[in-house]
Amino acid sequence: MTLAIFPGTFNPVHIGHLMLAETALLQFGLQKVLFIISPNPPNKLNSKEVIPVERRVQLLEAALADNLHFALDQRELKRAGPSYTVQTVQEVRQEYKLNTKVSLILGLDAFLSLHSWHKADELGSCCKFLVASRPGWDKQEVEDSVSSFHDDLDWVLLENPPLAISSTQIRTRKKENKSYRYLLPTEVFELYKGYP
Ligand code: ATP
Repeated sequence: MTLAIFPGTFNPVHIGHLMLAETALLQFGLQKVLFIISPNPPNKLNSKEVIPVERRVQLLEAALADNLHFALDQRELKRAGPSYTVQTVQEVRQEYKLNTKVSLILGLDAFLSLHSWHKADELGSCCKFLVASRPGWDKQEVEDSVSSFHDDLDWVLLENPPLAISSTQIRTRKKENKSYRYLLPTEVFELYKGYP
């Protein structure tokens, strides 16, 4: 089994996320991408902006339903206390009997903050990072900043098209009654628009 894990808050899931996962699938000939939903991301613990987890799950289920290579993984929701990616990686490795590094999909913003993650060294040594650049960065800039931060990491740049979309932007636009309809898959939009 060739797979990658894709951790996120998915607050809500949007087409930028789906495009990343699909890019990784094709670029690395993967069989599966596991979307790992985080219940209370350690860096967003105090945020009032997090959509209740059961709704984020519902939105993800709708978003992933038509792609056989995408799966929702809810293991972090069953944990007590904060959820850490390093533990997820070890569990997935055992469960899928992976004897190589675990591929982990991350946006550039997340990748550049990796040194502050729980057990960052351990995480760094057991993962290959599939890094998605975000708009505003060109390839050279990305390579320069990444190598100055993370010289010894195993990482590769995803060939994703730049999409200036974030969950924050969608939540804000919804609050301000601005259009966000086509930033989400249709099924996700139909559910999300009805949420308070
Ligand atoms: P928020 O705006 O609430 O911080 P987000 O849109 O960044 O959310 P997350 O669920 O935090 O979404 O993202 C999961 C992962 O996907 C992160 O590694 C993030 O960097 C990456 N990501 C999200 N949107 C994009 C995008 N448009 N392009 C590239 N990477 C992205």
